[in-house]
Amino acid sequence: MNGQCSTIALIVPVFNEEETVSLFVSETERILADYLPQIKVVFVDDGSRDQTVAKILEIQQDKPFVSLLRLSRNFGKEAAVSAALDVVEANAYVIADVDLQDPLEVVVQFIEIWQTQKVDTVCGKRIDRSADTGTKRITAGGFYYIFNKLSGRVKIPANVGDFRLIDRKVVEILRSLPERNRFMKGLFAWSALKTVEVSYVRPERTVGTTKWNYPKLWNFALDGIMGFSTLPLRVWSYFGGFVALLAFIYMLWIVAKTLIFGIDVSGYASLMSVILFLGGIQLVSIGILGEYLGRVSEEVKRRPVYVIADIVGNVATNNSKNGCGVVLEKNQNDG
Ligand code: UDP
Ligand code: MG
Repeated sequence: MNGQCSTIALIVPVFNEEETVSLFVSETERILADYLPQIKVVFVDDGSRDQTVAKILEIQQDKPFVSLLRLSRNFGKEAAVSAALDVVEANAYVIADVDLQDPLEVVVQFIEIWQTQKVDTVCGKRIDRSADTGTKRITAGGFYYIFNKLSGRVKIPANVGDFRLIDRKVVEILRSLPERNRFMKGLFAWSALKTVEVSYVRPERTVGTTKWNYPKLWNFALDGIMGFSTLPLRVWSYFGGFVALLAFIYMLWIVAKTLIFGIDVSGYASLMSVILFLGGIQLVSIGILGEYLGRVSEEVKRRPVYVIADIVGNVATNNSKNGCGVVLEKNQNDG
């Protein structure tokens, strides 16, 4: 499989990246020159509202290794990556950001490792997050810690993002997973095929601005945790049992006290604090129920994860019904 004639699809999700795409393509030509005959750059336009699509189509005119999957609107990076993995046929897939924060020099290492050792995944591990802000580092660290504490058997390694090379075996597994919640890092870890890590220093974004903000990251973290753990849901019955036991002991004590010392009406403050505390706990647990229920309703609706409006370029596509989205326009010139 890993022969010289195998194709490697470089999957690049883009959202309002008009300033970044051409630099990405020229850097690919320069750094991945040795692998160019095998490489297909597949941009997935995630509903950009600027000139990104026009830029890519212009580049495509004289660079046949560039192709474009255009989603009908902004579905999010996870959906964009899922779309490409479902539709594009290749022997290996590299997922990289367009802003060159996932260095192409590291992609060269990925390809070498994949070709020489028989591994299914080669992923990039950030050894230095100093390009990120302090808050981002702390929240990211907290997320990995909580995720791995709650997720049971599926562990995601800290500081390993989507940046990786995966063999088509992994893609076949991903295509067979029926869920709509495409928390890719978790799904990659779930498939648990043979993985090698390559350490790298994540540089700052070359041009343009980040497309993430804290509310988006918060929801992303909840999707991840709730997609891989039901512990937050189950813990409340134990907690409730424990609180009920304490309340029972307290009740015995009150009854005994009343029998011995008579009726006493003080205790307003302690009563209030117990009521408010338990009210708060109940609301939190109902909120968590709601978070899960919302996700369950998303899953049972079985809505497609993405809609591909068209596919432009010389890239082989998968014609089977496998996958979790809708493809409106098939490739005219399948390669
Ligand atoms: N991206 C996307 N859809 C979105 C947000 C981002 O396809 O809704 C793409 C974006 O164009 C980039 C990659 O995902 O190629 C990573 O985004 P960004 O660099 O903004 O994230 P950061 O590096 O700050 O985490
Ligand atoms: Mg970035």
